[in-house]
Amino acid sequence: MDVVIVGGGYTGMMAAARLAGRGRSVALLEKNDLGWGASSRNGGMVHPGFKADLATMLKRDPAGGRQRYQATLEAFALVEDTIRVNAIDCDYVRSGHLELAEKASQFHHLEERAQLLTRQFGVSARLIPRVELASEVGTSLYHGALLFEQSGGLHPAKYFAGLMRVARDGGAHLYDHTPATGIEARRRGGFKVSTPRGVIQTRDVLVATNGYSDRLVPWLRRRVIPIGSYIIATASLPDDLAHSAIPKRRMLFDSKNFLHYWRLSADNRMLFGGRASFTPTTIAKARDWLYAAMLQIHPQLAGVQVEHAWGGQVGFTVDRVPHIGRVKGITYALGYCGTGVAMSTYFGQLAADWIAGGELAACWQRPFPAVPLYREKPWFLPAVGWYYAALDRL
Ligand SMILES: Cc1cc2nc3c(=O)[nH]c(=O)nc-3n(C[C@H](O)[C@H](O)[C@H](O)COP(=O)(O)OP(=O)(O)OC[C@H]3O[C@@H](n4cnc5c(N)ncnc54)[C@H](O)[C@@H]3O)c2cc1C
Repeated sequence: MDVVIVGGGYTGMMAAARLAGRGRSVALLEKNDLGWGASSRNGGMVHPGFKADLATMLKRDPAGGRQRYQATLEAFALVEDTIRVNAIDCDYVRSGHLELAEKASQFHHLEERAQLLTRQFGVSARLIPRVELASEVGTSLYHGALLFEQSGGLHPAKYFAGLMRVARDGGAHLYDHTPATGIEARRRGGFKVSTPRGVIQTRDVLVATNGYSDRLVPWLRRRVIPIGSYIIATASLPDDLAHSAIPKRRMLFDSKNFLHYWRLSADNRMLFGGRASFTPTTIAKARDWLYAAMLQIHPQLAGVQVEHAWGGQVGFTVDRVPHIGRVKGITYALGYCGTGVAMSTYFGQLAADWIAGGELAACWQRPFPAVPLYREKPWFLPAVGWYYAALDRL
């Protein structure tokens, strides 16, 4: 085998499709069903940008930060091209999104960001003051917003199914319910990847396990922190109710650390998501908490039934930026910090091209900080959660 890919989400599947398309033999191993991880459970919001603050990133590393942000614009374009070129039917609509200011001080921060994005990156980012916000969102809670035209919503599992079709049609071998249990370097070069179904000899390995990274590569486990994110989906809303909540069908985020994100699905359900806590919780608790938060923002939805609730794991990094690199010859691409639909598609392609002999851009060749004293259990998460919750309350 030329390449074994561990992890069957967007990163792994995009890499499999790209490598197979370039004539490489590829085996993709997924521990559960293909697409079982965050790639079939997310909010479907496709947009440029990182979790890390852009201004801080540019201050710390002007050239690298600029290239990395530019890459997120390319990532967004890549998702749109991938959908169009492969005719992936995934309800994609370029709706635009709004980042909503919880506090007046945050509106000033959005103003600075709008200037940065427009001047340095030519991004269409328009400020919407509080007095004009009613035309965009049916609530009076926010102090204004930043509107990004360059973003869109999709059905995450349908998008994944499209990538899987491309990979399979290209000749990639896709194995579900096949965990990689060990990776051993061979003396003559290459690796042996163990699975309960047998051992595969391969020249290269790509680990694409993001928030579900297990003990396979302990070095990665110490660098990617799994954090739960949850979503509820209401029953389909009548058109007038949907319109009263989100008149232009934009996607919405607020500016909290424990942020909420919400949008209307193609079948008019309100999809409302957020991070319930930094400690383990249950879907039932997360559902109740999200429902209450949704009604606080949109009281007009009182009485609407919640028909589905689910959660998944996002992979956080210390610097809040995703990482692609190699450790002991094993390639990895992960750490999207909850904003990975575009970036995981992009990193899948980038990793594939690097493995196929291309160069990795200098802006990605950077240290990947570990979390001090973190081995197996993220014992520090409750404290981090309290800290961010306190910041949100200030
Ligand atoms: C609830 C939720 C909402 C989100 N909303 C958004 C959003 O609206 N917009 C956005 O941009 N991003 C969002 N994200 C983040 C986005 O979904 C992820 O960044 C992206 O899907 C990561 O893809 P991936 O392929 O790297 O990882 P995943 O899709 O998580 O796949 C990793 C896979 O690796 C497998 N695996 C782990 N270990 C092994 C092993 N040893 N052997 C074999 N397989 C293994 C796992 O089973 C898993 O299926 C959200 C995430 C969640 C959980």
